[in-house]
Parts: sequence; structure tokens; C-alpha cells
Amino acid sequence: MADMTEVSKNDFEELQFLREISLTLAHSADTQVFFNNLKNIFEKYLSVNNFQIFIKDESTNVLRDFVKNWITVGKNQQQELAENIFHRLKNVHDKGFIINNTLIRYTTKKELPLSNLKEKHNLLYFPIFNERNIIGVIEIDFNGIEKDVISERFLTALRIAISQINTAIVNKILNQKLLTQIKFQKVMKSIAKLIENQFELDYILPIIGELIDGFVSEHLIYIFVKDENNKYKLFWPLDCQDSAILSLLPKITNKKTFVISKDGKTGLFALKNDDKITGVIAASSNIDRLSKTDIDYLLQLSLQASVTTQRANSYAQVLKYATLDALTGLNNRRQFEVRLKQEVANALRNKKPLCCIMLDIDYFKHVNDTWGHSAGDCVLKSVAKIVSHELREYDIASRYGGEEFCILLPDTKINEAAFVAQRLRKAVEKSDINISQEGLAGEVLNVTISVGVSEFDETFSEPQRLHQSADVALYEAKRRGRNRVVVYDSALE
Ligand code: GH3
Ligand code: MG
Ligand code: MG
Repeated sequence: MADMTEVSKNDFEELQFLREISLTLAHSADTQVFFNNLKNIFEKYLSVNNFQIFIKDESTNVLRDFVKNWITVGKNQQQELAENIFHRLKNVHDKGFIINNTLIRYTTKKELPLSNLKEKHNLLYFPIFNERNIIGVIEIDFNGIEKDVISERFLTALRIAISQINTAIVNKILNQKLLTQIKFQKVMKSIAKLIENQFELDYILPIIGELIDGFVSEHLIYIFVKDENNKYKLFWPLDCQDSAILSLLPKITNKKTFVISKDGKTGLFALKNDDKITGVIAASSNIDRLSKTDIDYLLQLSLQASVTTQRANSYAQVLKYATLDALTGLNNRRQFEVRLKQEVANALRNKKPLCCIMLDIDYFKHVNDTWGHSAGDCVLKSVAKIVSHELREYDIASRYGGEEFCILLPDTKINEAAFVAQRLRKAVEKSDINISQEGLAGEVLNVTISVGVSEFDETFSEPQRLHQSADVALYEAKRRGRNRVVVYDSALE
């Protein structure tokens, strides 16, 4: 310690560096923020050109960008280099680290040799360990660094920093895994719970599609269902131009219930009913390979989807003669059709007016997407309640489909029906819908409805024309901006 002033100045810098690293590790919950902060600190204290973290994909052994979680093979040279290095590291394991493609053995103290850093082009790779396994690398690009910028002491600080960062990364990975696991359990549960109030595959399958799509964010989900000629038909969403999926579909058989494309980016998973293939859930991406974990998750999700659809089918059989909708307690669609015929016959016989109100919740998909399907269900129940409360005893309210309700108003003229419709619309608009029982303490939602109104006309060829006309008016209400009532007029068609 010949020169006290210099020592304390250096001390200060190193300690500052370590202090900032510690603070960042303690305070950056978000992975992107965590990474950016580290990068900034490394730029500030070590004037590095680049700082990267790569994590090994468990199934493919390919390195992924820690933050973005995607792989760009061939595009990103840095990454290719890192992959290259990684394969070497895999063999040398915990014996050392690599500088410029040369293995530097750890000394007993595991200190970084300064001499290597002072060369002109220097990419430093630090393995990230979990227990004794290397799970990734930290890459620091000292390219073109001036001599003597980094002192031995700073290297010691760097080594300490790297080991702290290593621990933080391992924790983050564990945390991410845990969060994914929780999300997965939630999706499984939501798919299982679908049949509590919905038996029609027309409604169930799109919701399953949305749920799985939300879970595997890097891959697009498609659902195919076999038609009566045993041909696959796209069921959800509306369009599929993915040639990889279409060519893989025939490969799904009773013995081979899932197929992964050669490039690993597309996966098909059978939907089964007893031992028959009834459809396929497909996951596809242009960029990402499906990891082993993704495939495991998708297998379990498609199994759950099979169970749900199979149960829905059997419930639908059992409930063929049921009249009420399980979720809202209103008449179901079948019962609506029965009552429609009766009421039209009554109206004709007694020469009384008969009106129909058709209503649909506005932007309901948004409710599901933002708050989850159980909150969506809660909204459906509440809207059903609000509507029932506003009606007379002999009005007939039914759940017509997903978030569509249909009401028959016997002995009611069109202007009265329009008045009722307006009352319904206002009642829904001003109601605070409590979704707190869904585990979100004190959460309250507001929704609006669009409403179409029609009156039975003797010239109608069949009873269905009544609600078809209300539907035309409802469509017009949506078109005009939603949260409004439109009365049917033949000019609308
Ligand atoms: P618009 O204002 O045009 O009506 O928009 P929207 O989002 O309400 O319309 P869209 O028809 O696109 O979405 C209806 C959504 O309702 C899609 C489906 O996932 C959801 N849904 C259907 N049945 C149920 C159900 O029983 N429970 C829940 N939570 N959602 C359902
Ligand atoms: Mg809607
Ligand atoms: Mg709708």
C-alpha cells in the first residue's frame, strides 16, 4: 500500500460498482429491467461494448436470449458465437471459462487472468451454474478496450458481481418456471370447469382455443375438428394458412397422438373421444421451436381438452331434455325455440301482439381476455339477473348463445318493447358488477349491451323470423357503435 490516495479511489470505484450491482439485483423484478440495469452498470464502470445473457433451452440445448426468450439461429452472430462457446463449455464444465475460444482453467482461487483481458479483442464468457451444471453463459464484449482500464482488483470485483448475477439469474429462472406452472394449472382448471355451464362445443372449443393461445404466447393455436366424412375442418380461429400444420394433420393417428414437425416449430396434438380421434389442437410459430416443456404442457392441455369435450358431449346427451341454462338459470336455447312456437301460435290465435328483444354484451371478449373466463361467467350471471329483474313475470327470457340473450314479450306492442329494451340497456349500463368472488378482492366491472327489437308480423312465413328480425336490428345497434337499442325495420335488411 504505497500510495494511499490511489488505493482509496480504486476502492471506491469497485465498491460503487458492486453496490450498484447489488441494488439492481435486489430491486429489478422485471427481467427486462434487470437486464437493462446490469447492462448500464457494465457500460458505466467497464466501458464494455456489449453485455448479454444466454440461457440453455432444456430440450434443444440451444442458447436462448435470457430476456426475449427467443432464438434467432443464423441471424445473430453474437448468439451463434455464444452457442459455439457454449458447446465447448459443456465439455469443460466447471474447469474454467473461455476467452477468445481458448479455455482458461480456473486457478484454485478461480481468478480471472488479467493478461488475457488486455489483448485487443476480448469476449469474455462466464458460465452460469445451477448446482454444478452449466445452464447458460454471460457474455461480456470488451472489444477494443484500452490497456489498463481494468485493474486486477476490478477483476476481483467483477468475479464477485458475476457470482451474484449468477444466483439472481437462477432465482429468476426458477421463479419463471413457478409462474408458468401456476398459469398452466389455472388454464387446466379453466378448461375443466368449462362444462360447468356450457355443453355446446360451438362455445367450448373457441374458449379452449383462446385459453391455450393465451398460455403459449410464442405459438399460435388452431383447433381442427373431424367432420362426418372424417375430414379435418378448421374450427378455431377463422383462418389457417399454415402449410406445416396442414401437411402434418394426416400423420395424427390412434397410435401417434402427437406429431412435431422436423424443425420443431409446429406441434399437433390429438383430441380424442374414447379411442376415436375427434380433432387436433395445433401449435405453430415461424421463429420458435417448441421446447420439451412446451410439448409436455400442450400434451396435458389437449388431454384435458379431450376430457372436457367428451364430457360436454355426454352431458349434452343427458341434458337433451333439460330446459334451463346451467349458468344463468334462464331458459336454454332449445326451450326458447319451443316457447317461440307456442307464443307465435298464441299471438295468432288471440290476435295479440308479440315482440322479441335480442341483446348481446358489448366487447365481451375483452372481459374474458382481461379478467379471465370465470369473471366472464360472473358477468353473464349478473346480466341475466339484471335482465330478469326488469321483466314482467310472463316475459320469457332465454340465454340464446354465449353472451346473447333473447326475450319474448307476449301481448306487447313494438313501442312498449322498445321502451323495455331501453330500460334493460340502462339498467345494465348503470350496474356495478362484482367479480370479487373470483378471487379478485373488491373488483367491480361495468359492461354495456346492444339491443335489437322486433314485432311479430302475420306475414312472417315462420316463427323464427321474429328473432331473426331482432337479430338484424341488434347487428345494426352494434354497427352504430353499441350500447344502444335499434328497432327492426325492413329497410335494415
Ligand atoms: P361485440 O361487442 O361485437 O359483441 O364484441 P364481443 O367481444 O362481445 O363479441 P364476440 O362474439 O367476438 O365475443 C364473444 C365472446 O364470448 C367469445 C367467447 O369466448 C365468449 N363466451 C361465449 N360463451 C361464454 C361463456 O359461457 N363464458 C365466458 N366467460 N365467455 C363466453
Ligand atoms: Mg358481444
Ligand atoms: Mg356475440
